[in-house]
Amino acid sequence: MKRRSFLTGAAGATLAATAASTLATPAIAQGKRELKMVTTWPKNFPGLGTGAQRVADRITLATDGRISVKLYAAGELVPPFESFDAVSSGTADMYHGAEYYWQGKNKAFNFFTAVPLGFTANEINAWIMHGGGQELWDELSGNFGIKCLTAGNTGVQMGGWFNKEINSLEDFKGLKMRMPGLGGEVLRRVGATSVALPGGEIFPALQSGAIDATEWVGPWNDLAFGFYKITKFYYYPGYHESGSTLACGINRKVWDSFSKSDQSLVQSSCWAEDDYMYAEYNAKNSDSLDVLVNQHGVKLKKFSDEVFNALGKASREVVAEVADAGPLEKKIFDSYTAFKKKASAWTLLSDSAYTAAREKAGG
Ligand code: CA
Repeated sequence: MKRRSFLTGAAGATLAATAASTLATPAIAQGKRELKMVTTWPKNFPGLGTGAQRVADRITLATDGRISVKLYAAGELVPPFESFDAVSSGTADMYHGAEYYWQGKNKAFNFFTAVPLGFTANEINAWIMHGGGQELWDELSGNFGIKCLTAGNTGVQMGGWFNKEINSLEDFKGLKMRMPGLGGEVLRRVGATSVALPGGEIFPALQSGAIDATEWVGPWNDLAFGFYKITKFYYYPGYHESGSTLACGINRKVWDSFSKSDQSLVQSSCWAEDDYMYAEYNAKNSDSLDVLVNQHGVKLKKFSDEVFNALGKASREVVAEVADAGPLEKKIFDSYTAFKKKASAWTLLSDSAYTAAREKAGG
């Protein structure tokens, strides 16, 4: 694709036109194809939209153009939340999005993005790649004719933006908050109402007063949307998304039509973005938090133990209820829960213990 940039001026245009007319047939004969990727993210939105673009570009580059992926941002081909149906039906070939947006299809999809009081980014990758998670994901999304791969991670998300201080559980009563996935159900259990707006619709809803509070991602992404212009109370930690995985969902027939080599290249492209994006969030969140607090007067607040523990209690109930929805939901819940117990024990005496000790020792 980059070769095109060398073709400048009239000579280049002529050469390009000649190339197009003479190479079109051989290109098809060589099995080259252009695939459509839809996404739930606004065009070029930092981290999420740019990550989707990088997945598309990585696949195109890795396969030397045999699979050329063209990205359509939210609303360009289909509305953001219709990305799943578009890929399932074959209207689009693949999507980049968050699996919990499809919880209306099956609540177990939440486990493959994030559930309240769930895995960190490291833990969810351990489960998906080495704890049976990928096989369960294949079974779940396979029921809809889709093959899924991890293709991004935001790391721990913030608790959200509120138009007032949250000092006790009482402050959630009557609050209207944007919150997707099972986190929204947790809010309802503590007396709030919740809506799952796509990213691009959050700012106007907050501005008009249609919602009183919102979560989105973290400092880098929240700064980009400008929530600080409307509300100043910014809470942490997020109980609801502690390491959200993003997914590349590929129409199963399209996936099966790839050669083994191309399947491997597509998988590696998605996994590379998973690491790259997680590193990007970790690098950019602290700088953005500094801008929010020191340039925009945002008040950084920590949820009290009373509030976090109550949200945690409701979280455990809501997540456990997914198992009641059916045998596959139960199988996924059981696998997730058993793995979380092991992963959590290791996290506490590895990453958590080390960072706490490092700070104590002077940083
Ligand atoms: Ca979020």
